[in-house]
Amino acid sequence: MSEEELSRQRELIRSALADGLHTAWQDRAYESADVRRTVDALQAIAPDRLEDKLRVAGFTLQPYVADEAPEIEQACRTCMYYESHRRYCDLPELKLGVEPEWACVLWRV
Ligand code: SF4
Repeated sequence: MSEEELSRQRELIRSALADGLHTAWQDRAYESADVRRTVDALQAIAPDRLEDKLRVAGFTLQPYVADEAPEIEQACRTCMYYESHRRYCDLPELKLGVEPEWACVLWRV
């Protein structure tokens, strides 16, 4: 995917979330069963259904910080799937242009 396409994708995501798209951001996937459930749900979504992916993955435009671990900031920039040189999420079920301060429930270090 070209940088132009990634940039357009980021803009679509930003706009959907800024317009109030409801996502499952509270359903953090900490346990392997939660990850499996979320990944299975993402795999069932057609590739062109961007908003459905954002909903299921629990996207937010800002980092997530859990009450029980306030010292840990969950954000794309610290996620193992984030490619900083092209601001890209390489999780196979997402593969989206993302911004470093965004987050989703599948965040991993
Ligand atoms: S998996 Fe990681 S890089 Fe991808 S959207 Fe979620 S937090 Fe961001």
